[in-house]
Amino acid sequence: MTELEQRWRRVLDGKAEAEKAAGREPGSVCLLAISKYQPASAIAELFHLGQRDFGENYMQEARAKQAELASLDIRWHATGPVQTNKAKEVAGNFSLLHTLGTEALARAILRRLPEGKVQDTLIQVNIGEEPQKSGVAPAELPTFVETLLEGGLTAENGASLRLRGLMCLPPNCGEGELARPYFTRLRELRDDLERRFGLELPELSMGMSGDYRQAIEEGATIIRVGTDIFGERPKKV
Ligand SMILES: *Cc1c(COP(=O)(O)O)cnc(C)c1O
Repeated sequence: MTELEQRWRRVLDGKAEAEKAAGREPGSVCLLAISKYQPASAIAELFHLGQRDFGENYMQEARAKQAELASLDIRWHATGPVQTNKAKEVAGNFSLLHTLGTEALARAILRRLPEGKVQDTLIQVNIGEEPQKSGVAPAELPTFVETLLEGGLTAENGASLRLRGLMCLPPNCGEGELARPYFTRLRELRDDLERRFGLELPELSMGMSGDYRQAIEEGATIIRVGTDIFGERPKKV
């Protein structure tokens, strides 16, 4: 077994233990392998072991790997900040966008989706209200969702944006129990939005190396793990 396979299996075991401890269905949490800065060969190796979901942060890098690995049926997730002028790179090219945080980006993506295409997205919440992090402030969430819904999430060509849930990158992320209260808060914010707007928002993308167990206990449906799977990230591609 390669080191990569060993680490990946260790994370799967950790996920299974946390699911069990939290009384969640085995296998119900999606392990998203965050492959930023990792070579396409490592992604291919994990794919052949059964890993299907991969997350990338940088559009240029992501699109290059998608081209290189086009023969593999990978579910690509966009997990990094997306500038509005990069909307066309995202639109229709990722099974899930994790980082929607502005009305302008939503409109730009909607304009660029191919006919009839449904683009699933999460709203990134700046759960710790940190100035250096992107995302919608917790207090602004209801207004943000209201604005999105009022503006309409279906384009003239029948394409649409579908809100699927919330994502966060909390303060102290990766530090186990210190991150837990932010995960709890994200779940509560989701529950509140569902009640207010009658929406179904099943997905909570939260937890990474170092705190995915706590995230699972607090209701994560997608955990985003990089280092624990791939080892230390190379500085650049
Ligand atoms: C890099 C990154 C991760 C993974 O972090 P690790 O500590 O390497 O597990 C998760 N989510 C986002 C948004 C990231 O940018």
